[in-house]
Amino acid sequence: MTDALKIRAAVQFPMPLPEAFDYAVPDGMEVRPGDHVHAPLGPRSARGVVWSVAHDDGSRNLKPLDGLIGGAPLAEGNLAFIDWASKYLVQLPGNVLRAMLRGEDALRPSPVETVYRPSGEEPTRLTEARQRVLDAADLLGEASAADLAREAGVSSGVVSGLVKAGGLVAEERPADPPFADPDPEGEGLALTELQADAAATLRRLVRAGGFQSALLDGVTGSGKTEVYFEAIAEALRTHSDGQILVLLPEIALTQAIMARFKERFGAEPAEWHSGLNPKQRRRVWREINEGRARIVVGARSALFLPFRKLSLVVVDEEHDPTYKQGEGLTYQARDLAVARAKIDGATVILASATPSLESLANARAGRYVHIRLPARIGAAVLPDISTIDLRETPAEAGRWLSPPMVEAMAETFERGEQTLLYLNRRGYAPLVLCRACGHRFQSPDTDTPLVEHRYTGRLVCHLTGFSMPKPDTCPDCGAKDSLTSVGPGVERVAEEAKALFPQAVVEIFSSDISGGGEALRDLIARMERSEIDILVGTQIAAKGHNFPNLTLVGVVDADLGLAGGDPRAGERTYQTLVQVAGRAGRADRKGRAILQTHDPDHDAIAALVAGDRDRFLDVESQAREMLGLPPYGRLASIVVSAESEDKVIAAAAELARTAPRADGVEIWGPAEPRYGVLRGRWRRRLLVRADKSVDISAYLASWKARVKIPASVRVVMDVDPYSF
Ligand code: ADP
Repeated sequence: MTDALKIRAAVQFPMPLPEAFDYAVPDGMEVRPGDHVHAPLGPRSARGVVWSVAHDDGSRNLKPLDGLIGGAPLAEGNLAFIDWASKYLVQLPGNVLRAMLRGEDALRPSPVETVYRPSGEEPTRLTEARQRVLDAADLLGEASAADLAREAGVSSGVVSGLVKAGGLVAEERPADPPFADPDPEGEGLALTELQADAAATLRRLVRAGGFQSALLDGVTGSGKTEVYFEAIAEALRTHSDGQILVLLPEIALTQAIMARFKERFGAEPAEWHSGLNPKQRRRVWREINEGRARIVVGARSALFLPFRKLSLVVVDEEHDPTYKQGEGLTYQARDLAVARAKIDGATVILASATPSLESLANARAGRYVHIRLPARIGAAVLPDISTIDLRETPAEAGRWLSPPMVEAMAETFERGEQTLLYLNRRGYAPLVLCRACGHRFQSPDTDTPLVEHRYTGRLVCHLTGFSMPKPDTCPDCGAKDSLTSVGPGVERVAEEAKALFPQAVVEIFSSDISGGGEALRDLIARMERSEIDILVGTQIAAKGHNFPNLTLVGVVDADLGLAGGDPRAGERTYQTLVQVAGRAGRADRKGRAILQTHDPDHDAIAALVAGDRDRFLDVESQAREMLGLPPYGRLASIVVSAESEDKVIAAAAELARTAPRADGVEIWGPAEPRYGVLRGRWRRRLLVRADKSVDISAYLASWKARVKIPASVRVVMDVDPYSF
């Protein structure tokens, strides 16, 4: 027996396991951290990733690895990120690894194709069919067997015969075209002085290298995109091996932004969002893992792509609530993006017209470089914002647009300009009830009212997707023609607009539109060409678009979202209304935004009208600070769910009983959350509020370790919940 040193490898599996497992590395096999391997796990062999490699004294009888899977290893930054994120999110590392590996699929070896070209030599035997193939090969230069055979009018057997006979050479090459290299010197717009200053600051940060964050705080239409393009160009120039990640809210991933990238950098970036098919996903994943995709533009889950080395991360619309993934692996993509950048020593740019209180607090504390763009580009000015007090000038009964709003729409229409009516409610009416007996249609799973959709004639639960045809008679009392629709959705407001302006082209812009993404893009294009007079839209109409002839934004119900106990409601409403109002007057025409409200004195609405963001933020900050809520404290939510109410009550009580005592930590609840029943499970929620100095993740982990709860009860811990 030789005394050779043994090597062991710790392997992490993309499964809900508590930790990495050790294996012996067989002689002759060489593995590095990040390598993909097969290793015995229980009765089978499973795919995993080598987390670390160490010398082993051989005292434990470790099972050997089964084999090495090819492909580029995950870069070490990703392993460090997964370790960090799993601790921070109180998740098993295997679950976070699974988010990065996206199933077994991502690692399938790159598809290759075989191409043929003339060898320049005479084949051993030249038939007429072979001559036709050689002619075709001369014509096509480099082609697949199928293309050659088709061109020559022969079977593909003739092509392979010619390779053997020496007339053609075959070569394998990757079937996926690589992403073209972006060119930092592509021509951008001539920047305004404000933009140029902002760009210079960002370029300096990027050039210096190392982890640094900047908040790019600029009003809507101030040209923030153009400014962060300069930072991207600098990153391309000065960090030749670095990759650049640009996160956008899913909704903003339109063709328009991709076209702007292409124009500026001469190449389309790699794109990552829910609309990709599996083949496209595999290609993007691989190109990033192998370091070939330099610029990646994606929605929140792009954060888990296997970057080799990031030099710059941009989070556009950083305040956007959709950065919070609220189900499954819950995370706040903006915060995790900052953490990911820190690991690779990259620059971070957070851009917004309405920054989150969290980011503003960081900027005020000097942790982020604060860059402001207070003016719009060129002649465009910010819209005038005013309110209509619905208590004084209500809409007529059964209508939703008050007379001053209708008047403003009429003026706009007569001038040949466009109106956007904003209401964040899909469908026709948010509630249907029976006038005879009072029966309400409710979702069987959540007890929330079913939303009426007129175009499809259905009643729909927006939480679970449950739907049913709208009946003619009341299912409770049997009365006929007694069902009545209560309140407005976009379909109903569009109906009213059509009745008021029969000559106008009125369209609805919501995620329910038939035809999906294609139809939405078509609507955007028609809106840009001013072929639509009145657009009635939900929040997907509120973000990012640039409609030059849009001069009036009418907010049908500015109070929506202010009610309820959520301390973030004011901030969210303020941000949304600024974004919506920002759609008006983007070119040389002044725009106006009119908000219908029952509460014009509410802080969020009054601040909007006065254009006094700082006052609003001060009031909001003070309220949060008094309660010790983020950004002045830490917050986590724990949702317990079970198949019966008794079980969930017992489990929530057990959880509350076992809460570790710690200084600076308070437990609120158990309480019934907004949806007391969801998808057939009863729910209770506890909130954990902690002082900033408390490591809330470690606190939750120690709690999780001591609580004993039946397997049928689910406990979901969410660090930094968005709404509560
Ligand atoms: P933001 O992201 O701040 O809302 P954008 O970067 O989308 O602003 O710019 C708003 C509009 O102004 C876009 O149509 C953009 O092409 C245009 N724009 C930006 N910078 C300039 C510039 N320096 N000169 C001319 N037009 C510009």
